Amino acid sequence: MPHTPTSTSGIRRLEQSLERHAQRFGELRRDLEQLEYFCKGTVLKRMMKCGKAHCACASDPTKRHGPYFELTYKASGKTVNVRLSPEAAPLYRAASQQYRKLKILFNRLEKLSQTILRHQAKLAQSQRRG
Ligand SMILES: [Zn+2]
Repeated sequence: MPHTPTSTSGIRRLEQSLERHAQRFGELRRDLEQLEYFCKGTVLKRMMKCGKAHCACASDPTKRHGPYFELTYKASGKTVNVRLSPEAAPLYRAASQQYRKLKILFNRLEKLSQTILRHQAKLAQSQRRG
């Protein structure tokens, strides 16, 4: 890393933004504590044809059977579908929303951590150089 001398006011600015970032990190960590059970995937609601040629569903899309619920997610590159009962569907839908929330939080925490580490490194470097 090239040496760039940091002035006293530069250090103060660095410390101030470090404090701000640390505060934000704390807030996000508290959001993380609010997290409920989570699961990967999306809950789909489907109306199905039964396959019987003389059933009304064969010709009329509004006469299809259902709704049927499925949890769909990717595992090792493959799409997996899991049938859900009507009672399970809202539980899994809420859990998949929590998963999305977790991913957003994780990404924010990671970006913030990188910024904080960069600032800390700069500060440590300027302190060593006195
Ligand atoms: Zn049918």
